[in-house]
Amino acid sequence: MVKTNPSAKKGGLTVLKPADKFRFSCNEGVECFTRCCRDITIFLTPYDIIRLKNGLNISSEEFLEAYTVTLISEESGLPLVALKMNDDEDRSCPFVTPQGCTIYPDRPWSCRIYPLQPESTKITEKKGKQYYSVMDVPFCLGFGEDKVCTVAEWIEEQGIPVYQEMEALFKKITMNPALAAHKITNKKLQEMFYMACYDLDRFRRFVFESKFLEMFELDGETLEKIKTDDVELLKFAIKWLEYGLIGQHVLKVKPEVLAAKKQELGIE
Ligand code: SF4
Ligand code: SF4
Repeated sequence: MVKTNPSAKKGGLTVLKPADKFRFSCNEGVECFTRCCRDITIFLTPYDIIRLKNGLNISSEEFLEAYTVTLISEESGLPLVALKMNDDEDRSCPFVTPQGCTIYPDRPWSCRIYPLQPESTKITEKKGKQYYSVMDVPFCLGFGEDKVCTVAEWIEEQGIPVYQEMEALFKKITMNPALAAHKITNKKLQEMFYMACYDLDRFRRFVFESKFLEMFELDGETLEKIKTDDVELLKFAIKWLEYGLIGQHVLKVKPEVLAAKKQELGIE
């Protein structure tokens, strides 16, 4: 690992700020080319799944079935989705070939940001500050290459800002203090989270083909957008989770539905 401008040491870790430089390059010429695409756990974000399923031109159901495994977070009880590695000796990524990554333009966030690793905490995030460290991967020869760039340049070059923007929305759910305090064990809630965050094509059918639209008031512009735009649908899905999982009033229930509910419960 080579850092040309070591920043503050924090708990024994060298922390880089956006303007700090590091030395790294990955290219077909390195002896270790594709070595890192094996025997690795890659967790996928909701936005990763949008990019991957659209890049492969398949539905979210097909993508999840063919390429992922689901785990339940021991801490939060929320479902996590990871890429399913091939069942071969190397546990290689299903998208790696000797020529490199076959889905490179839509590769997951964690493949993009490597060799950097976010070192943000809730406090630094609140202040809008970003900190990173450089991962220590002994077999990776990219640290011996000539290229030197700043953290900010790397983030931009790897197309990471849109991933960060979408992750900030996702964290409204995953980092919500109310959820952090109570581990989710209810299977229906876990399923609701899974569909809204990862299985977006199914979530779209749920919105348009169930009684969903009889219950909530949605303006025409939102409806049009979520019909065809996966990113807009994911933003809406996160709102639905804020409403359903956290009890935030971010969606408007139709007055007649509220009135019927009140009558049912005997509330004036
Ligand atoms: S191990 Fe490092 S240099 Fe080698 S292919 Fe992976 S990222 Fe590139
Ligand atoms: S998605 Fe691409 S870059 Fe990431 S591990 Fe698989 S082959 Fe490598």
